[in-house]
Formats: sequence, structure tokens, C-alpha cells
Amino acid sequence: MKKNHKFIILFLLFAVILIVPTNKLEAKTLRDYITEVEEMIKELESYEEERAAARARAKEKEEEIAEKYANIEKYSLRIQEAKKEIEDTKVTIGEKEEEIKELLSFLQVTNGENVYLEYVFGATDFTDFIFRTAVVEQLSNHNDELIDEMNQLITKLEEEQKQLEIETKNEEKAIAEQNKLLAQINVEIEDLSDIYTDKEAQVKGLEEEIEYLRNAGCDMDEDITVCLGVPIASGFYLPVKTGVVTSEFGYRIDPLSGEGYVYHKGIDIALDDWNPVYAAASGTVGTIVRKASCGGNIVYVKHLIDGQEYTTRYLHLSSIEVSTGDSVTINTIVGYSGGGWTGTRRGGYDSCTTGAHLHFEVNLGWTNIQPQNPRNYIYFPSRW
Ligand SMILES: [Zn+2]
Repeated sequence: MKKNHKFIILFLLFAVILIVPTNKLEAKTLRDYITEVEEMIKELESYEEERAAARARAKEKEEEIAEKYANIEKYSLRIQEAKKEIEDTKVTIGEKEEEIKELLSFLQVTNGENVYLEYVFGATDFTDFIFRTAVVEQLSNHNDELIDEMNQLITKLEEEQKQLEIETKNEEKAIAEQNKLLAQINVEIEDLSDIYTDKEAQVKGLEEEIEYLRNAGCDMDEDITVCLGVPIASGFYLPVKTGVVTSEFGYRIDPLSGEGYVYHKGIDIALDDWNPVYAAASGTVGTIVRKASCGGNIVYVKHLIDGQEYTTRYLHLSSIEVSTGDSVTINTIVGYSGGGWTGTRRGGYDSCTTGAHLHFEVNLGWTNIQPQNPRNYIYFPSRW
């Protein structure tokens, strides 16, 4: 019975050892980095394609808008023409009306009692006079018809003018809508460009790191911990001597647009520009990203704690004080804080900062890093 008991305990222990997650012990190699950088380059290409497509759409919209402006110009010219035609026709009508009046007054005179007065108009005899009267009547009728036609023409021109005014309004409305769409596309292009430059900077950093690992003599499938000798750390510490946490890890309202939720991969610590930022634990400097359009100057540090690989990231730095491959301790200044003057709001290059602060991350892994809540590893006082 006792022997059996011992056996069960041993079996359980063995089972526990088997169940313990093995990802902690997974070794990263130069090949992993190369795979990661290749994936990122593919992503970059797809971003570039997306951006090219968005640019093509923007161009299409711009052309549509230009066409509509040309239409409005055409309509406006035609409206002016129609107005001129109406004016001219009105003048002609006036002239014709004047003629009719004269003809009619002549008829009145000839039809009245003063029959002899027709001689004033030059009829040689009565037959001639009758003939002239008939001609006058015909002329007068003809002018009436002409006036009718011209009035119809005016009505037609006025209708055309009205129609063109409606068309112009429609085109103006369409232009406003197209401009809205164009603005959306331009925002899309800008966002894509931001992500693109950010990723591009990361690729550049990773390539530098790969170069460093190659120069360090790391074999393609050699465990980087062994090759680089990443110092084993005991735990994480606050990366700055002073500050106040202004934003936590996790989902939060987008601080830049004030709309929608974004996943915040780290913790924000507000502190003035140019304060020293220390490595949060002993480790080796990994990727260095310079002047990313989102994040500015960024330092990655690789750590090994209790057999687990971690990567800490320090964003929005004013300066970078370390190089890829450097061994660091918690007394090493990786860079100086920024986020104030480096932000686009103050004429800098970093569009992802609204004021002086350090964005600090703790991630699992050295490649394909997974963000964790830094509070699970470090105690952050409310102000220190
Ligand atoms: Zn942040």
C-alpha cells in the first residue's frame, strides 16, 4: 500500500512536469528573426499596395470632381448665353411691337373718317390704298406671329436656364459629396503611410539586429540566448525615476482622435522631456527604431527572466543612448524621454504622442512579441 502511494505521487509529479508549458524554453534563432523580417516585408508590400489603390481611388475622385467643375463652368456659360439671347429677343420684340403700333396707327388713320389722309402715306388711288391696307394688315399679322414665336423662344430659354441652374446645384451637391469621400480616402492614405513608415522603421531595426547577430557569429539555428549571452535578470523595475501614470494597458478611447477604442499595448508615464530612461531589467538591446512617424525613437530590450523571454519597449524617446547588441542593466540609460517636442503637435515627427511621456511595454517573447500588462511585473505608484 505504501509503495503504491509513492508510485502515485511520482506519477503525478511526472505528469505535472509534462503539463508545464514548454513555450518558456523555446529558443529563438537567427532564422526566426529572418522569418519575422520577411513577414514584415510582405506586410509592408501589402500596405504599399493598399496605399497605391487608395491613391488611385483618390485620383479617380479628383478627376470626377474636376469634370463636375468643368460641367458647372459649361452650364454657367450657357446660362449667360441664354440670358443674352433672352435680352436680345426682348429687344427685337420691342422693335416689332413698335412696328405693329405704327402699322396699326396707320390702319386706324386709313379706316377712320379721314380717309383722304391716306394720301399722306403715298397711295396714288383708292385701289392702291386698299392694297396698301391689306399689306399693312398682313405685315401686322406676320409681326404678331413673329412676336409669338419669339415669346415662345424666351419661354424655352428661360426653361433651359432654370434646368441648367438645377443641374449646377446637383453638380455642386455631388462635388460636396465627392470631396467628403476624397477627404476620407486622404485620411486612409495618411493612416496607411503612418503604419507603413512605422513598419518600415521596424524592418530597418530588425535588419540591423540580424546584421548584428550575424556579425556576432550566431548560426542560423543557434539559440540566441547562448550566442549573445543575454544576461539573466531577476525581475523588472521602474524605467524612470519620476513620473505619473496617465494611461493604463488595455483598451482605451483613442487619445489622438478622441473617437473609438484602441488597444494600448503599454503604460504611459507622463514626465518632462529629457529625463533619463533606464532599462527595466538586465538584458540585451535589440531592435532600435529611429524617428518612426508613430512612436518616434524606440528601443527594444531583450530579457531572460526565469527562463522566460521578454522584450521591453521604450517609445517617444528624445534620444537613443544604446546600440543593438549592448548589454544593459537597470542602471543603463537607454535613452532620454520625449513625446513633447518630438510630437507633431509641436513640430516634431511623432504623430502618436500628445505630450511629454514615456510609453513603456513589457512583451512576452523576443520575436512576434505579445504585449502584457506592465503592472503584472512592476509596481507603479500613482506618482513618484
Ligand atoms: Zn502609450
